[in-house]
Amino acid sequence: MDRLGRQGDRVLERSERTSVTALPRAASVLAVCAHPDDESFGLGALLSAFDEDGIKTSVLCFTRGEASALGAEREDLASVRAAEFEAAARVLRVRRQRLLSYPDGALAGVDLDELVAHVRRFGSEVGADLLLAFDEGGITGHPDHIRATQAATRAADADGYPVLAWAVPDEVARALNEELGTGFLGRRREEIDLVVTVDRSRQIQAIACHRSQSAGNPVPRRRMEMTGLTEWMRWLRGGPTAQ
Ligand SMILES: [Zn+2]
Repeated sequence: MDRLGRQGDRVLERSERTSVTALPRAASVLAVCAHPDDESFGLGALLSAFDEDGIKTSVLCFTRGEASALGAEREDLASVRAAEFEAAARVLRVRRQRLLSYPDGALAGVDLDELVAHVRRFGSEVGADLLLAFDEGGITGHPDHIRATQAATRAADADGYPVLAWAVPDEVARALNEELGTGFLGRRREEIDLVVTVDRSRQIQAIACHRSQSAGNPVPRRRMEMTGLTEWMRWLRGGPTAQ
């Protein structure tokens, strides 16, 4: 059977879709993101799943996404995206969110200690006991994503947080890159610590809130179609496999 076809859009084999484990236990999850929409396009299903499990969720986002090529014709893109972020956070039932104003597209040039201090401060304010971030390669290789995850892991090293990273399966990354010319960086099954079943309904609503980025953008929809109702995660710090 061709892995990429004949069974519809999903590219994962059945065995890879059914090895499901539960979300880790936590009281308060803090997601650390680079751009408004990362919490929805990337982490939306997981934030929603944590909420459904009765776990409080919060989001720290370092930039207002003003450098996006999507919506670049709008002079007020930063404020548009800030409003979209607030709306998406409500849909995802995020309890607290903090949107900072570091330069979009240049986060890698910002002093890492400064970013780490924001994570540590907000983590303390929301009583976080688990950090959620993008995979170390930044999922799409975007330097801002990589920097946000570095800030999360460095904060974890200082304060002892476990860090869970959202990852994209290799097959999905390759299929997306082939079909849409994207630059997704996938992970092999053996690099994955947790595979969970998710309900994407809130994520889909949250993505729609980011209208400036999602209208006419096929990538999030195709990625969700290919991945199906599962999300893959890796422990970057802490977790059962690292203790
Ligand atoms: Zn992003």
